[in-house]
Amino acid sequence: MDALTELREALPESVVVTDPDVVEGYRFDWSRDPNAGTPLAVVRVEDAGQVQATVRWAARHGVPVVPRGAGSGLSGGSGAVDGGIVLSLERMSTVEIDTECQVAVVEPGAFNRDVKVAAAEHGLWYPPDPSSYEICSIGGNIATNAGGLCCVKYGVTTDYVLGLDVVLADGTLVTLGGKRIKDVAGLSLLKLFVGSEGTLGIVTRAILRLVPAQSARSTMVATFPDVDAAARAVVAVRRELRPSMLELMDQASINAVEDFRTMGLDRTAGALLLAQSDAPAGARGEEVATMQAACTASGATDVFVTDDPDEGEMFVEARRQAFPAIGARGTLMLEDVGAPIPLLPDLLAAITAIAVEHDIEIPVVAHAGDGNTHPIIVFDEKDPDSTQRAAEAFAAVMAAAIKLGGTITGEHGVGTTKKSALPDQLGPDVMELTRRVKTALDPDGILNPGTIL
Ligand SMILES: Cc1cc2nc3c(=O)[nH]c(=O)nc-3n(C[C@H](O)[C@H](O)[C@H](O)COP(=O)(O)OP(=O)(O)OC[C@H]3O[C@@H](n4cnc5c(N)ncnc54)[C@H](O)[C@@H]3O)c2cc1C
Repeated sequence: MDALTELREALPESVVVTDPDVVEGYRFDWSRDPNAGTPLAVVRVEDAGQVQATVRWAARHGVPVVPRGAGSGLSGGSGAVDGGIVLSLERMSTVEIDTECQVAVVEPGAFNRDVKVAAAEHGLWYPPDPSSYEICSIGGNIATNAGGLCCVKYGVTTDYVLGLDVVLADGTLVTLGGKRIKDVAGLSLLKLFVGSEGTLGIVTRAILRLVPAQSARSTMVATFPDVDAAARAVVAVRRELRPSMLELMDQASINAVEDFRTMGLDRTAGALLLAQSDAPAGARGEEVATMQAACTASGATDVFVTDDPDEGEMFVEARRQAFPAIGARGTLMLEDVGAPIPLLPDLLAAITAIAVEHDIEIPVVAHAGDGNTHPIIVFDEKDPDSTQRAAEAFAAVMAAAIKLGGTITGEHGVGTTKKSALPDQLGPDVMELTRRVKTALDPDGILNPGTIL
């Protein structure tokens, strides 16, 4: 019996899919890394037992396993590997709310939005909010330690993970953490799996901390003559307070969004900042006034404030449209570089200089309040010269971030697309430690090979 037949016989009929048309839909993530391979099969598991059976089979036959949530990743991490299987968690999507413990017990295929909606029904809130919250899974969020727009005040995914069930590379299922708010028993293994990009284990269940529903928000939109002035305003705002949102769009991304879908943004602005405050009662007005003053002092040409939630949401939606809008302009190489907040103006200046030097378009949006930027390199994949210049610019942007004491990735993960720069950021000792952890947990290297390392 060949290996695939053995897998089919171990699982219910509809779980293992080899139809090339269906398999094609699981080869790439949103980044469409051209190096993605062609898998033997897609395994659409229905429960943790099937995950264990699949991983045990893979371990016996030395078959690579690429865990996959919703495939919205931007670093190639859920791209398929030649001769491997894609282990899709999409069918495992239950969400249960425990109101007494204020946690959500969630299967990995549930979308981020599903958790928010279920929590809201009980007056609770799951804060992490990637722009992709309607199209990304909790398993993917945990595996990438996803950030988002309100993370500047409320933290990122790892800050909300209290417990995980994880299937290890030999098929063992371990339960880490639980519904306990505080728990320091043993090594902090729970957090080792958050952000491990499917290379150390497969998350089959998560216990997520919920908080009381967010208070009413005021929204501020400030326009600037250029990106530098906007970045300096970010530094000034962050010196004073932590707003619940502080996003930046440069002129190219504003215009890409307006071309894609008319949202009423000021096309003439050199850059805009989108900020929100959800501070209680009078403190909200004070926070907005402080942010207004910081923007004006940094050279804002216009500052608009609204307490209308629908109007505020319209601007946030415009920001969320940035990736698809810029994607309509050509093929993309997506960066996720960050720097310490005071160096945000330097990072953005370096990106502008790289765009000029390599004669390539690099619109920028940023979770600016976190110092996390998304320079998006737009190129023509049919033109080898354009592709070459884009690749050089991609490497140069990561190098610039490292030089500033920043990071090559703030929230999307290293995946396959950024791993060449990882040694430059981490150095040989930390790379070696990373390899030792990987080897200890996955000695045969079957879990998501080619990602991170
Ligand atoms: C328009 C757009 C906007 C975005 N905005 C943001 C943003 O604001 N912030 C942000 O952080 N990201 C953002 N992203 C990126 C992406 O949505 C996140 O990285 C998200 O966490 C990926 O979830 P997914 O379910 O799509 O994961 P996938 O793409 O399927 O997988 C991502 C990684 O997680 C691993 N993985 C998936 N499920 C599991 C599991 N159960 N166990 C172990 N490993 C697993 C995969 O192997 C892969 O390495 C955006 C993407 C798009 C397309």
